Amino acid sequence: MLKTRSLDCLMPYVRYLALRLKEECAGVGIPLGFANTLRDAEYQAWCYQNGKSATKDIGPHVFGMAFDVFINRKDSEYDMDLLRRVGAIGKKLGLSWAGDWKSFREYVHFEYTGGLSAAELRAGKRVELPAVPKELIDADRMQVYFPGGKAEGYAVDGVTYVPLRAVCEKLGYTVSWTPDKPFEARVEEKA
Ligand SMILES: [Zn+2]
Repeated sequence: MLKTRSLDCLMPYVRYLALRLKEECAGVGIPLGFANTLRDAEYQAWCYQNGKSATKDIGPHVFGMAFDVFINRKDSEYDMDLLRRVGAIGKKLGLSWAGDWKSFREYVHFEYTGGLSAAELRAGKRVELPAVPKELIDADRMQVYFPGGKAEGYAVDGVTYVPLRAVCEKLGYTVSWTPDKPFEARVEEKA
């Protein structure tokens, strides 16, 4: 069962919107936390069984296009008035806010799917999401020095990311990737 609150698991543009939302809420004195970002089908089923989701079908959370928030203040975590204000800010940023939904209102749920429905996502349909504005990428940029070279990486929430192949090959390793295992890369010693 996969359940995480990390923003790094979201699609880059959705992560960007989540960060913007947090920033804008902080600007009006609402401290925002994130309770749920990426989840798998098993956790989706659990949410449904426990009344935390309208559907047992996988949806935007499973595709890294949704996140749930809470008010990061003791005893006000699910304050309706504050969540409504967060909803209004989110909509201004272009997010869909489930507090507006007719069938199953979730005041904590935001998503950005590029206009696709959950059924379309399940059917494998995708649209290209907007690019993350360059200023944000620049702000996260880091120069990483290592034995034998230098690479440009970036830092997100205290974790530094570097271009794997560029770094490993300079350190004397090979990097391989095959299309049949798209979510795996393998670093090995040079033969
Ligand atoms: Zn949600």
